[in-house]
Amino acid sequence: MIKIKNIHKKFGDNIILRGIDLNIAKGQVVVILGPSGSGKTTFLRCLNVLELPEQGAIEFEKSGLQIDFSKKLSKKDILALRRQSAMVFQQYNLFPHKTVLQNITEAPIQVQGKSAAQAEAQARELLAKVGLADKADLYPHQLSGGQQQRVGIARALALQPELMLFDEPTSALDPELVGDVLNTMKQLASEGWTMVVVTHEIKFALDVADVVVVMDGGVVVEQGYPDDLFENPKHERTKNFLHRLK
Ligand code: ATP
Repeated sequence: MIKIKNIHKKFGDNIILRGIDLNIAKGQVVVILGPSGSGKTTFLRCLNVLELPEQGAIEFEKSGLQIDFSKKLSKKDILALRRQSAMVFQQYNLFPHKTVLQNITEAPIQVQGKSAAQAEAQARELLAKVGLADKADLYPHQLSGGQQQRVGIARALALQPELMLFDEPTSALDPELVGDVLNTMKQLASEGWTMVVVTHEIKFALDVADVVVVMDGGVVVEQGYPDDLFENPKHERTKNFLHRLK
């Protein structure tokens, strides 16, 4: 179980997150939906301390890591949290001057202290898993968007985190490239990775999510099993949001 409690975040006077709670069981896929500006990306970024919440906490049962955001975090806390919650970004965020292989081995070598040989062997396995075994020595600009995103996924997996965070991973892709990335994510879900996915892909949510969370105005307005939530939304704001998607 990963327990996220009472996350608050503001930018200046602009309050974005007003106390988000979420419990995620091991192996669960949580899809976060909600209107633009509701705070979905900010919430994910808080879980990886790319944004620093003013308040709230996160606990990882398996590693025992506990972070209280109301206290000043040390560099060690931040590294430990990033080690357990790896992010896959909308814009891939690969290092342009490093090869695919180097992009994946960077964190295991720098953060986990793996040897270059160990990190490389693992990176090659991960590349095979995401269907890119033959691309190890290319640079990001030599790959399609979908391939770059699958490298982004392999890079996140390399840390073997307890939690995988996906921030609209397909929204920068041409439509014909979306399927490969979603299939890779489905495969990870079936392998038991614990995932939180911000996406506008409703079909993915229906097919893969164990839980769908709807955010609006910096709060969770509703959460439930995807079939229930889509067929029988209870909250007015969920109904409005789903109605606009149709
Ligand atoms: P979308 O679906 O459009 O990506 P979202 O639900 O992910 O939206 P966020 O990106 O979390 O929403 O943004 C929530 C609000 O926080 C927006 O009003 C945005 O302008 C604001 N915001 C996000 N990042 C910053 C920042 N670094 N500085 C100031 N305001 C920010």
